[in-house]
Amino acid sequence: MIVACKQTNEFWTLMNHFGYAGKKKLKDLLQQSDNRTCADCGAHDPKWASPTIGVFICLKCCGVHRTLGPNVSKVLSVTIDDWADEEIDAMIEVGGNDSANSIYEAHLPEGVKPGPDASIAQRTKFIRSKYEHQEFLKPGLKISSNKSTAEASPPKETSVRAPSSSSVQKLECVDGVIGHLKFTILQGANLAIRDMLSSDPYVVLTLGEQKAQTTIMRSNLNPIWNEELTLSVPQDYGLVKLQVFDYDRFSADDIMGDADIDIQPMLTSAVAYGDASMFGDMQIGKWLQSHDNALLEDSTVNIVDGKIKQEVSLQLQNVESGIIYLEIEWIPP
Ligand SMILES: [Zn+2]
Repeated sequence: MIVACKQTNEFWTLMNHFGYAGKKKLKDLLQQSDNRTCADCGAHDPKWASPTIGVFICLKCCGVHRTLGPNVSKVLSVTIDDWADEEIDAMIEVGGNDSANSIYEAHLPEGVKPGPDASIAQRTKFIRSKYEHQEFLKPGLKISSNKSTAEASPPKETSVRAPSSSSVQKLECVDGVIGHLKFTILQGANLAIRDMLSSDPYVVLTLGEQKAQTTIMRSNLNPIWNEELTLSVPQDYGLVKLQVFDYDRFSADDIMGDADIDIQPMLTSAVAYGDASMFGDMQIGKWLQSHDNALLEDSTVNIVDGKIKQEVSLQLQNVESGIIYLEIEWIPP
């Protein structure tokens, strides 16, 4: 029941971004089973698409598509970007991931296609081979976005539309880092007791190999930290893990609960809006509360005074009690 509500919510947030005429058509296309996994790596629930090619793709593959340039693949977020009617039509004309792959992967050798956990290097090699060099097409076929230079007429279902005029912000990448997230750990409430009467809590954030931690608050179950912890975001980021520990001078520190932070809504919004200082204050994304995450309530991503920020309230998991309030801010590279 909760899952169904969540999907409906997300879906209508998403649909509000499309023009009325395109809504129904794109809705049908998105619900097609082949479009529920990434056309390039098979990752579930892709939230990006290339109307130039006509495929739905995941964020990681999207990063690679951007490097091909908009002539080969212009990418749009299905949750955030405004779509032109002709871009929706282009997706519909191709007919979905299976249809596109029946052309682009017609002669795909075994073992070449990467999986959802593939490295950026593996993805890049495959995606360039597939769309730029078109190595897996039927012999003699060549698909070009510029029809005057096409070596052969593409089949109708893969005819390619010119990119629309709507601008897409670039995902900049400096030394494999796409930007930084500044976490302000605001406060804890009703934390668990690990010593005789109280605890000496501190918070640890982990993203990949990176760790950052707050100071230790002595004998306090409702500590106010107001401390900033900054993490670099690599291109193939995952969840940020938040853990609360009780400092113990004489033995190993005890765990006081944990929670996973999904940073994808923040990053998807940040990538789509690029230079947030060009926009007024508004809501640009949302991480929805559900039974399978630690959110106390829906967490919105907002532009505030030219900065992209998200307020998050987390119910600590694997512990008897405890809430952590924090704020996340996107720092572009
Ligand atoms: Zn993918």
